[in-house]
Amino acid sequence: MYKEKIAEVKKSLSNVFTNISDLKTLENIRIEYMGKNGKITELSSMIKEIPNEDKKDFGIALNEVKNIFNENFEKIKKELEEKAINEKLVKEAVDVTLPGTKIKNGAPNILEKIIEEVESVFMSMGYDVVDGPEIEEDHYNFELLNIPKGHPARDAQDTFYVKDEDYLLRSQTSPVQARVMLASGGDKPIRMICPGKTYRRDADDATHSHQFMQIEGLLVDKDVSLSDLKGTFDVIAKKLFGEDCVTRFRPSYYQFTEPSVETDISCFACKGKGCSLCKNTGWITVSGAGIVHPNVLRNCGYDPKVWTGFAFGFGAERLAMLKYGINDIRTFYQTDLRELENFDRREDD
Ligand SMILES: [Zn+2]
Repeated sequence: MYKEKIAEVKKSLSNVFTNISDLKTLENIRIEYMGKNGKITELSSMIKEIPNEDKKDFGIALNEVKNIFNENFEKIKKELEEKAINEKLVKEAVDVTLPGTKIKNGAPNILEKIIEEVESVFMSMGYDVVDGPEIEEDHYNFELLNIPKGHPARDAQDTFYVKDEDYLLRSQTSPVQARVMLASGGDKPIRMICPGKTYRRDADDATHSHQFMQIEGLLVDKDVSLSDLKGTFDVIAKKLFGEDCVTRFRPSYYQFTEPSVETDISCFACKGKGCSLCKNTGWITVSGAGIVHPNVLRNCGYDPKVWTGFAFGFGAERLAMLKYGINDIRTFYQTDLRELENFDRREDD
């Protein structure tokens, strides 16, 4: 009885595995034979009814059928899986000859470049680059710099006050000079520059910005004179604007220097002949400077009878505008990528 049953299942296996084209069909065959009510599962459950003397032969015959099923099943399963992977590979193939998406390189802001350039010139002359707070105390921003409360010079610098008129967004980078002098203890020479952001209540237009970058410098030593300042300014101007650049000083007035000067360079566009850039004067003003006022030295712990010094301040935007022919200060702060890339190209030329 069981022999016929086994033979019947075995015979059916001989053609059930032909023409299977997908894994779903194969799975249905597995259920048909090996599932809960599958043909081979049912054969296995017959063991209870087999007489003891036939159990061994039954086991051998049943195993043979199981082996036939398993071998065929695994072989076809493997073939179908490989086929599926190959089809997927073909479908998802990447055309390596297609051009890739170009990633744009970033470019440093032109102000950053100008500041680095100025820094490296001063560092080559032994100056330190120093940083200071942008929210500053009135004390450092004005009082120590010879601009006491109520002084008209404060009106000229429309200041952003933060709290109670004691704290403000620094209107100049000069407070860093005061901080450095105080920290030096009044008995050491100083050479420093301080590039950084400054703030004034200016309405933004082509030549004004409520926030701009100053590069401020200070030298304190013994027997420092205006000619030392002139020599230093001459070196800077030639490095930035070319070896044929000529400089001159004009008298001016600042509260923290005495005497004070405005520093001009010969117009690099017309070489002094006169053009629209220099308003036909042949000269361009680039900074304010002077000999440090004795009150400032005294306020910051230096004895003006022993020590002297000079200070100067450039506007980084003005330098960049002159050097790169930019006519609107807002260009630096509007983060227009086309402009930034343009600067980068000009630099490469
Ligand atoms: Zn000119």
